[in-house]
Amino acid sequence: MSEPKWKQNLITGYQNFRAKPYKRHKDLYEEVGKLGQKPDIMVIACSDSRVNPSAIFNAYPGELFILRNVANIVPPYDPSAGYHGTSTAIEFAVKSLQVDAIVVMGHESCGGISAYLASLGAEEKQENAEHSFLSDWIQILDAAHENLLARNTENADSQRHLEYAGVRQSIANLLSFPFVEQAVSAGELSLLGAYFSIIEGRLLFADDEGEFKEIPSEKVA
Ligand SMILES: [Zn+2]
Repeated sequence: MSEPKWKQNLITGYQNFRAKPYKRHKDLYEEVGKLGQKPDIMVIACSDSRVNPSAIFNAYPGELFILRNVANIVPPYDPSAGYHGTSTAIEFAVKSLQVDAIVVMGHESCGGISAYLASLGAEEKQENAEHSFLSDWIQILDAAHENLLARNTENADSQRHLEYAGVRQSIANLLSFPFVEQAVSAGELSLLGAYFSIIEGRLLFADDEGEFKEIPSEKVA
Protein backbone atom coordinates (compact mmCIF):
# COMPACT_ATOMS: atom_id res chain seq x y z
CA MET A 1 0.00 0.00 0.00
CA SER A 2 1.42 3.36 -0.94
CA GLU A 3 1.93 6.11 1.63
CA PRO A 4 -0.57 8.99 1.73
CA LYS A 5 0.56 12.11 -0.09
CA TRP A 6 1.26 14.13 3.05
CA LYS A 7 3.53 11.39 4.40
CA GLN A 8 5.33 10.99 1.11
CA ASN A 9 5.90 14.77 1.06
CA LEU A 10 7.49 14.56 4.50
CA ILE A 11 9.76 11.73 3.42
CA THR A 12 10.78 13.51 0.21
CA GLY A 13 11.44 16.71 2.15
CA TYR A 14 13.56 14.83 4.67
CA GLN A 15 15.55 13.17 1.89
CA ASN A 16 16.19 16.55 0.27
CA PHE A 17 17.28 17.88 3.67
CA ARG A 18 19.74 15.00 4.06
CA ALA A 19 21.09 15.55 0.54
CA LYS A 20 21.79 19.29 0.89
CA PRO A 21 21.31 21.30 4.13
CA TYR A 22 22.23 18.40 6.41
CA LYS A 23 25.26 17.49 4.34
CA ARG A 24 26.43 21.11 4.44
CA HIS A 25 26.00 21.40 8.22
CA LYS A 26 26.82 17.82 9.19
CA ASP A 27 29.68 18.79 11.49
CA LEU A 28 27.64 21.54 13.09
CA TYR A 29 24.73 19.19 13.80
CA GLU A 30 27.17 16.79 15.42
CA GLU A 31 28.74 19.56 17.49
CA VAL A 32 25.53 21.16 18.77
CA GLY A 33 24.02 17.73 19.25
CA LYS A 34 26.86 16.74 21.56
CA LEU A 35 27.59 20.05 23.28
CA GLY A 36 24.04 21.43 23.52
CA GLN A 37 22.50 24.59 22.15
CA LYS A 38 23.68 28.14 22.85
CA PRO A 39 21.52 30.36 20.63
CA ASP A 40 21.94 34.13 21.00
CA ILE A 41 18.47 34.98 19.72
CA MET A 42 14.95 33.94 20.56
CA VAL A 43 12.33 34.51 17.85
CA ILE A 44 8.62 34.55 18.66
CA ALA A 45 6.69 34.15 15.44
CA CYS A 46 3.31 33.02 14.19
CA SER A 47 2.56 29.34 13.53
CA ASP A 48 1.55 30.37 10.01
CA SER A 49 3.13 28.00 7.49
CA ARG A 50 4.39 30.89 5.35
CA VAL A 51 6.48 32.59 8.02
CA ASN A 52 9.43 30.39 8.86
CA PRO A 53 12.06 32.27 10.93
CA SER A 54 14.84 29.81 10.09
CA ALA A 55 14.27 30.38 6.39
CA ILE A 56 13.81 34.17 6.62
CA PHE A 57 17.00 34.65 8.65
CA ASN A 58 18.86 31.87 6.83
CA ALA A 59 19.69 30.45 10.24
CA TYR A 60 22.11 27.63 10.89
CA PRO A 61 21.33 24.82 13.36
CA GLY A 62 21.54 26.09 16.92
CA GLU A 63 21.31 29.78 15.96
CA LEU A 64 17.68 30.60 16.78
CA PHE A 65 15.51 29.51 19.70
CA ILE A 66 12.05 29.69 18.15
CA LEU A 67 8.58 29.85 19.64
CA ARG A 68 5.63 29.90 17.30
CA ASN A 69 2.01 30.35 18.29
CA VAL A 70 -1.14 31.78 16.74
CA ALA A 71 -0.54 35.47 15.96
CA ASN A 72 2.89 35.64 17.68
CA ILE A 73 1.24 36.66 20.94
CA VAL A 74 3.10 37.08 24.22
CA PRO A 75 0.54 36.97 27.04
CA PRO A 76 0.97 39.28 30.03
CA TYR A 77 2.96 37.84 32.94
CA ASP A 78 0.63 35.53 34.86
CA PRO A 79 2.17 33.30 37.53
CA SER A 80 -1.13 31.61 38.36
CA ALA A 81 -1.46 27.89 37.85
CA GLY A 82 -2.01 26.79 34.29
CA TYR A 83 -0.28 25.46 31.22
CA HIS A 84 1.77 28.44 30.15
CA GLY A 85 3.62 27.15 27.09
CA THR A 86 4.59 30.54 25.71
CA SER A 87 5.75 31.85 29.10
CA THR A 88 7.75 28.68 29.69
CA ALA A 89 9.69 29.15 26.46
CA ILE A 90 10.40 32.80 27.33
CA GLU A 91 11.57 31.86 30.81
CA PHE A 92 13.86 29.15 29.44
CA ALA A 93 15.33 31.50 26.81
CA VAL A 94 16.05 34.28 29.30
CA LYS A 95 17.02 32.37 32.43
CA SER A 96 18.72 29.26 31.05
CA LEU A 97 19.92 30.13 27.56
CA GLN A 98 20.51 33.78 28.46
CA VAL A 99 19.82 34.96 24.93
CA ASP A 100 21.00 38.42 23.89
CA ALA A 101 17.74 39.32 22.18
CA ILE A 102 14.10 38.38 21.77
CA VAL A 103 12.58 39.21 18.38
CA VAL A 104 8.80 39.22 18.03
CA MET A 105 7.92 38.83 14.35
CA GLY A 106 4.44 39.57 13.04
CA HIS A 107 3.39 39.06 9.45
CA GLU A 108 1.11 40.01 6.61
CA SER A 109 -2.38 38.47 6.33
CA CYS A 110 -2.23 36.87 9.77
CA GLY A 111 -5.24 34.60 10.36
CA GLY A 112 -5.14 35.24 14.12
CA ILE A 113 -5.40 38.99 13.55
CA SER A 114 -8.23 38.48 11.01
CA ALA A 115 -10.07 36.34 13.55
CA TYR A 116 -9.69 39.08 16.17
CA LEU A 117 -11.03 41.75 13.80
CA ALA A 118 -13.94 39.49 12.88
CA SER A 119 -14.72 38.96 16.56
CA LEU A 120 -15.09 42.72 17.14
CA GLY A 121 -18.36 42.75 15.22
CA ALA A 122 -19.72 39.71 17.05
CA GLU A 123 -19.44 40.69 20.67
CA GLU A 124 -22.48 38.86 22.06
CA LYS A 125 -21.30 35.45 23.04
CA GLN A 126 -23.78 32.75 22.18
CA GLU A 127 -24.77 30.66 25.11
CA ASN A 128 -23.87 27.03 24.79
CA ALA A 129 -21.42 27.95 22.06
CA GLU A 130 -18.67 25.40 21.77
CA HIS A 131 -15.54 26.42 23.64
CA SER A 132 -12.80 27.83 21.43
CA PHE A 133 -9.20 28.13 22.57
CA LEU A 134 -8.63 30.57 19.73
CA SER A 135 -11.26 33.07 20.85
CA ASP A 136 -9.80 33.13 24.37
CA TRP A 137 -6.24 33.42 23.09
CA ILE A 138 -6.80 36.31 20.71
CA GLN A 139 -8.53 38.32 23.43
CA ILE A 140 -4.98 39.14 24.53
CA LEU A 141 -5.02 41.44 21.48
CA ASP A 142 -7.60 43.69 23.18
CA ALA A 143 -4.79 45.78 24.67
CA ALA A 144 -3.15 46.12 21.25
CA HIS A 145 -6.43 47.23 19.73
CA GLU A 146 -7.03 49.76 22.51
CA ASN A 147 -3.54 51.20 22.04
CA LEU A 148 -4.17 51.46 18.36
CA LEU A 149 -7.44 53.31 18.98
CA ALA A 150 -5.54 55.75 21.20
CA ARG A 151 -2.74 56.15 18.69
CA ASN A 152 -4.39 56.04 15.33
CA THR A 153 -8.17 55.87 15.37
CA GLU A 154 -8.53 55.99 11.62
CA ASN A 155 -6.61 52.76 11.10
CA ALA A 156 -7.66 50.96 14.27
CA ASP A 157 -9.52 48.28 12.38
CA SER A 158 -6.99 47.82 9.63
CA GLN A 159 -5.41 44.40 9.43
CA ARG A 160 -1.89 45.71 8.81
CA HIS A 161 -2.01 48.25 11.63
CA LEU A 162 -3.31 45.68 14.07
CA GLU A 163 -0.55 43.28 12.98
CA TYR A 164 1.98 46.00 13.85
CA ALA A 165 0.16 46.83 17.12
CA GLY A 166 0.11 43.15 18.06
CA VAL A 167 3.91 43.03 17.82
CA ARG A 168 4.22 46.19 19.93
CA GLN A 169 1.88 44.70 22.52
CA SER A 170 3.85 41.45 22.66
CA ILE A 171 7.01 43.49 23.32
CA ALA A 172 5.21 45.42 26.09
CA ASN A 173 3.93 42.16 27.57
CA LEU A 174 7.45 40.72 27.52
CA LEU A 175 8.47 43.56 29.82
CA SER A 176 5.76 42.50 32.29
CA PHE A 177 7.83 39.39 33.04
CA PRO A 178 10.09 40.38 35.97
CA PHE A 179 13.10 38.42 34.70
CA VAL A 180 12.77 40.00 31.24
CA GLU A 181 12.50 43.49 32.69
CA GLN A 182 15.54 42.87 34.91
CA ALA A 183 17.65 41.56 32.03
CA VAL A 184 16.64 44.48 29.81
CA SER A 185 17.38 47.02 32.57
CA ALA A 186 20.77 45.40 33.15
CA GLY A 187 21.57 45.80 29.46
CA GLU A 188 21.81 42.03 29.04
CA LEU A 189 18.75 41.58 26.84
CA SER A 190 17.35 43.49 23.86
CA LEU A 191 13.81 43.32 22.51
CA LEU A 192 12.99 43.91 18.87
CA GLY A 193 9.74 44.04 16.90
CA ALA A 194 9.82 42.68 13.35
CA TYR A 195 7.35 42.09 10.55
CA PHE A 196 7.44 39.88 7.47
CA SER A 197 5.56 40.80 4.33
CA ILE A 198 4.86 37.46 2.70
CA ILE A 199 3.85 38.63 -0.77
CA GLU A 200 7.09 40.50 -1.39
CA GLY A 201 9.24 38.52 1.02
CA ARG A 202 10.33 41.71 2.79
CA LEU A 203 11.41 42.21 6.38
CA LEU A 204 10.74 45.26 8.56
CA PHE A 205 12.12 46.14 11.98
CA ALA A 206 10.38 48.42 14.48
CA ASP A 207 12.28 51.51 15.60
CA ASP A 208 12.25 52.91 19.14
CA GLU A 209 8.87 54.55 18.50
CA GLY A 210 7.38 51.29 17.30
CA GLU A 211 7.27 52.39 13.65
CA PHE A 212 8.14 49.61 11.20
CA LYS A 213 10.89 50.32 8.67
CA GLU A 214 12.02 48.08 5.84
CA ILE A 215 15.43 46.42 6.13
CA PRO A 216 17.64 46.57 3.00
CA SER A 217 17.23 43.28 1.15
CA GLU A 218 20.70 43.33 -0.34
CA LYS A 219 24.13 43.77 1.14
CA VAL A 220 25.70 47.14 0.49
CA ALA A 221 29.28 46.76 -0.70
ZN1 LIG B 1 -0.26 34.70 11.80
